[in-house]
Amino acid sequence: MRTLTGIQPSGTLHLGNYLGAMRPAIEAQARGNCFYFIADYHSMTSLFDPVERRKNTLNVALDWLACGLDPATSVFWRQSDVPEVTELMWLIGSLTPMGLLERAHSFKDKTAKGISPNFGLFAYPVLMAADILLYDTHVVPVGRDQQQHLEMTRDIAIKFNQTYGETFVVPEADIRDELAVVPGLDGQKMSKSYGNTIDLFGDEKATRKKIMGIVMDSRTPAEPKPDADQNLAIQLMKLVAAPELAADYESRLRAGGLGYGDLKKALFEQYWAFLAPYRARRAELAANLDYVEKVLRDGAEKARATASVVLKRARQACGIAAA
Ligand code: ATP
Ligand code: MG
Repeated sequence: MRTLTGIQPSGTLHLGNYLGAMRPAIEAQARGNCFYFIADYHSMTSLFDPVERRKNTLNVALDWLACGLDPATSVFWRQSDVPEVTELMWLIGSLTPMGLLERAHSFKDKTAKGISPNFGLFAYPVLMAADILLYDTHVVPVGRDQQQHLEMTRDIAIKFNQTYGETFVVPEADIRDELAVVPGLDGQKMSKSYGNTIDLFGDEKATRKKIMGIVMDSRTPAEPKPDADQNLAIQLMKLVAAPELAADYESRLRAGGLGYGDLKKALFEQYWAFLAPYRARRAELAANLDYVEKVLRDGAEKARATASVVLKRARQACGIAAA
């Protein structure tokens, strides 16, 4: 059973990326057969600075390795090092209905936020389907925001199989209900491109400032807060602190007597401690970039070995290659 997931180097990785995709992906390594990639082609739909893309790509590699991706057992590569994926995108895109793409929430959300839509952003679910199908993937750990894209991938695979004969594995999403959508500092989905993130590896001062800057209402500390479970700092605390501790803060907030400043200070401390083990490992890796580059190159070679077999199968199925 193969597990695969990818993250775009469209910005700096955040708590949502970690809890929604990376942590389940890292846990899945115990089962073996894991394929993880840095989706640099995808980042082209929203980021137009080549220097920034290269820098982000390297940072995403460091983040994954620091958080526990083990290149000895998992295949880890840059999407664009296996350009076969763009050809597969055409083969499957040619039978993807426009209506399917027009219904994509992520496209609608991004355009509603003022991100100007381009062909790439519209076609993103097709490239994502190609990413998954190219590697005979069975399971895809992702956040809830990607559920619809996974359904599209399944629809596309089924349609291709019906049209051209059994070619692709039809994958399943692995979405953890308890942390399906991590909220950002504004209460909306935390997203690299929305400017509402808490970075995984931001520096201490900036991280504290972001957390202390979470906007709360004007109720006094003494006032009981029956809606404590709706409080953003409490919601984030539940994600990073021990359950008993988070429950204790929630009940103190509900009862009255806990000020928002103290709550946010505690959240910062928990957040900082949550990532401490990975921070040290990341610093070591950052001092050894040749190693990181080698990991990506070796990974691309392995990924390509699988990709070329599946692409050949798909080309033959649809009559692009000689029978
Ligand atoms: P962008 O704003 O560029 O789309 P993003 O922050 O949404 O960036 P992606 O690279 O699109 O990140 O997604 C990488 C993975 O992280 C996906 O599996 C996605 O489901 C997951 N993810 C992203 N944001 C969240 C979130 N707020 N909560 C849970 N999972 C998330
Ligand atoms: Mg996204």
